[in-house]
Amino acid sequence: MALFRMRNSGRRVLDDVDVVLADLDGVVYKGADAIPHAVESLNRAAQGARLGYITNNASRTDEAVAGQLRGFGLDVAASDVVTSPQAAVRLLAQQVPAGSRVLVVGGEGLTSVVAAAGFQIVDSADDDPAAVIQGFAPEVGWSQLAEAAYALGTGDDGIPWIATNTDWTLPTSRGLAPGNGTLVSAVHTAVGRLPLVAGKPETPIFEEATARFRAKHPIFIGDRLDTDIAGANRAGIASVHVLTGVDGAKQLLAAGPEERPDFILEDLRGLHEPYPEAEEGRGGQITVGDAAVRLNGHRVEVVREGSPLNLLRAACRVIWDSGLAIYALDVPERLYR
Ligand SMILES: [Mg+2]
Repeated sequence: MALFRMRNSGRRVLDDVDVVLADLDGVVYKGADAIPHAVESLNRAAQGARLGYITNNASRTDEAVAGQLRGFGLDVAASDVVTSPQAAVRLLAQQVPAGSRVLVVGGEGLTSVVAAAGFQIVDSADDDPAAVIQGFAPEVGWSQLAEAAYALGTGDDGIPWIATNTDWTLPTSRGLAPGNGTLVSAVHTAVGRLPLVAGKPETPIFEEATARFRAKHPIFIGDRLDTDIAGANRAGIASVHVLTGVDGAKQLLAAGPEERPDFILEDLRGLHEPYPEAEEGRGGQITVGDAAVRLNGHRVEVVREGSPLNLLRAACRVIWDSGLAIYALDVPERLYR
C-alpha cells in the first residue's frame, strides 16, 4: 500500500496559504531577543503571503509592537498588528451603541483604541458607564478594579463586561508575572459573573485578523496549545505549533482534541521545508518521513527512531488517533524529550 503512495510529496506548510498570522512571544522573540531563524523565515514567507501578528497583550499599542518587530528586521506596519484591545472594541461595538460611556480598566494600549472607536472613556462607576472594558497594564490597581466592580454590580442584569484576554501569566524579563486573567478574576470574585473575552483562545481576535487581512486560507503560528492552537481550531484556522516557546513534546503528546495543531515545527525554517505526510500502514503503524511508531495494545512503540521531530509527529498521530487519554497509554519516556 504505502509502496504506491508518494512519500514526502514535497508539500510545504505555506502552500495555498494567503495570510500567515503569528503569535509573538515564543514565536518571533523571547524576551529582548529574536528567536533563531524566525525573522529570516517570516521575511521569506512575506514574499508569497500577507503577514499579520496577533497579540493578547493589551498594554502596548499596535505601533509599539510594530516598532519592536521592525527592530528585529521584520517589515511591519502598525496595521499588520492585531491586538486584543482591537478585538475587544469590536465586541464592545456589538454590545453598546456608538459613542457610549465606557469604563476602562487598563492602560494606553486599551484607552487609545476605545477612544479611537468613538466611545467616551470614563474612570468612575459614578459616571454611569454603559459597559466595562478591561485589559492589562502595569499601573492597574485596586482602585480601578473596585470601580469596575461597582459599575458591574452583583446582579445578573448588569452592564456588559468585556476583557481583552484572560492570560493567567505575563512573561517579563524577570520571570512570569500575574497576567490580565488574574485581575479579571479579582473582579469576577467580587461580582460573581464572567466577562466576554476577545483574545486567544476566544475567536474575536482571529475574526478581527481574518476580516482585516481579507484572509481566505489563513494559517496561525503559535507556541501554546491552550491559547494559540485551541483558539485557531475554534476559529477554523489551520494551525502550526512551533517548538521555540512554551509548550513542547510532552504537552503535544498529551493534547486533547481541541488543542491539536495541524503542523508541528522545530523552528520557523520548517515553514519552507517539505512537510512529510503521515502514512498509515499495517496494524495502524504511522510513518512520518524517517520515523515510524505503532500502538501495541496500550503500549506506544517506536518502530523506527528517525529524526526527533518526525518521531514526535508520528507519536502524536498514533496517540491522538488512539482515542485514548495519554495516562491510559504506556509511552516511552524518550518521546517526551
Ligand atoms: Mg506565545
